[in-house]
This record gives sequence, structure tokens and C-alpha cells, in this order.
Amino acid sequence: MARATKLRKAWRRPERLRVTAIRDRLRAAYGRPELAPHGAPLDELVLTVLSQNTNDRNRDVAYARLRERFPAWGEVREAPLDEVEEAIRPGGISRIKAGRIQAILRALDGDDLAWLETAPVEDGRSFLCALPGVGRKTAACVLLFSYGLPDIPVDTHVYRVGTRLGLFRPGAPFDEAHDELLALADPEDAYELHVSLIRHGRRTCNARAPRCGECPLLDLCPEGQRRTAAASK
Ligand code: SF4
Repeated sequence: MARATKLRKAWRRPERLRVTAIRDRLRAAYGRPELAPHGAPLDELVLTVLSQNTNDRNRDVAYARLRERFPAWGEVREAPLDEVEEAIRPGGISRIKAGRIQAILRALDGDDLAWLETAPVEDGRSFLCALPGVGRKTAACVLLFSYGLPDIPVDTHVYRVGTRLGLFRPGAPFDEAHDELLALADPEDAYELHVSLIRHGRRTCNARAPRCGECPLLDLCPEGQRRTAAASK
């Protein structure tokens, strides 16, 4: 049986206590991040679209240029596609992103999304995910960063580290990983888990060469234990 199939069959959903233990270890390693919700869901939505397939710096440059060129979202919606594309070019795949942003703004038709703050999280998530090109990660970013609502964006770092830690079924689609993390985490830990798992993915649990020997999660991590056992043979 192939290794991936074996891992999938062997996977069992972890106890919530394990996620709490992971949170505590990461808190000891990186501190406890504090969320300051900014109350600007539409800004967050556009920013998250701009973050696709690029780094934070290029995303921020593209966003700043877009806001400078078009101070109001209605102006972005009505502008020629070429002008929006030109403004966000530093963020990469600008034609696609410009079209996506305009499609979202047209679908919203002037809705500033402020109602998300008091709506049930599930309703807000469903509404956002029905917008053109918006998936679970983008919806979670809007809900969490705008209003501190308990949703957890699963980006590539969170997905990789979470899979290695056994939180997600190996090979699980991203939407399933979002559901798993929400089911496992205390809602109050949403922001902390998101940030801490990203930090850990960047600093220690790298994609190509995770530093399991110096990882504070080693005894909680099936993949880390497999790797260290294989390395010691
Ligand atoms: S033990 Fe290794 S694989 Fe597991 S979380 Fe730590 S660095 Fe990643």
C-alpha cells in the first residue's frame, strides 16, 4: 500500500486537548498575538484577493496603489479593467485579480459588509463564499481580521503544519481543513492559532526541511517523529 494511502487510513481526528497543548507550546515559543480588529471588511476582502500568489510586501504595494488611484470602492467597480490592472500590477497576476475585484464589487452592489459584525458567523461565511472567486480562506480573513469573529484562515503554512501535526486528514481539501480546525479549536483561540501556526511554518516547520530536532511540538507530531526516527536509522 502506498505511504500516502496508509497515512490516510491510519488518520484519526485528534482530541481538542491536543490542539490546546499545541497552542500552549507555540505560545511559549512565540508569545501570544493580540488581534486588533479593524472593522473594514471590504478593505480586507480586496486585500486578501490581492494577497493571492504573492508575498505580503507586493500585496501591500498593490493595495496602496489601488487606494491612491481610486479612493472609493465604487470607483474601482466602475473603472476600466485596464486601469485597475495597472494600479495593482506589483501584486502579480494583475489581470485576473483586477477582474476578480471588480466582479466582487459588482456583486456587492454597494454593500459595505458592515452587517457581518452582528450576523451569525455561518451566515457571513456563506455570503462571502458565494461571491465570485471567494473561498473559505478569504472569507475567514474577512470575518476574523475585520471583526474578530471566530473563523480560522488556513493558508499554505497552516495547512502544511496542521497536516504534519495530524490535525487534518492527509490530502484533505482546504475546505475540509478549515472545518477540522474550527471543530478542534476554542473559538477564542482562532487568531492565535492562525498566527502561531504561520510563524511556526515559516521559522521551524519549513516546507522542504522542517527542523524537527529543535521543534517544541515534536512529541505531539506524528510526522516529526517519523522523520526523526528515519534520520536516526
Ligand atoms: S516536529 Fe517537525 S514536522 Fe512536526 S511540527 Fe515540528 S518541525 Fe513540523
